[in-house]
Amino acid sequence: MLAIPGSTRHRLAADESGYRNLFLCGDWTRTRIDSGSVEAATLSAIACAAAVLAARDGAAAR
Ligand SMILES: Cc1cc2nc3c(=O)[nH]c(=O)nc-3n(C[C@H](O)[C@H](O)[C@H](O)COP(=O)(O)OP(=O)(O)OC[C@H]3O[C@@H](n4cnc5c(N)ncnc54)[C@H](O)[C@@H]3O)c2cc1C
Repeated sequence: MLAIPGSTRHRLAADESGYRNLFLCGDWTRTRIDSGSVEAATLSAIACAAAVLAARDGAAAR
């Protein structure tokens, strides 16, 4: 597990790339765990998939 003190505020969520069609995942993104680990990477992947689906559903509703 790698988590530098104070680094959590720098982590971006899956839908915070700044582009509406670019989603983020990896152990460096913001999750419930906020540290470098397989668990964080897994949570990140789930959050990323959810963000992709939410964007798709939002686009479909427009
Ligand atoms: C020695 C070591 C031991 C560890 N032990 C543990 C442990 O016991 N338990 C635990 O929970 N975690 C452990 N970790 C941490 C764990 O490996 C990582 O948190 C996890 O692999 C992160 O997954 P990820 O998908 O975010 O990134 P990664 O697994 O790093 O995957 C990123 C992938 O992207 C690829 N890539 C990078 N740049 C590019 C590019 N430009 N184009 C295409 N592909 C690219 C890389 O080659 C890599 O395959 C360990 C890490 C290390 C280094």
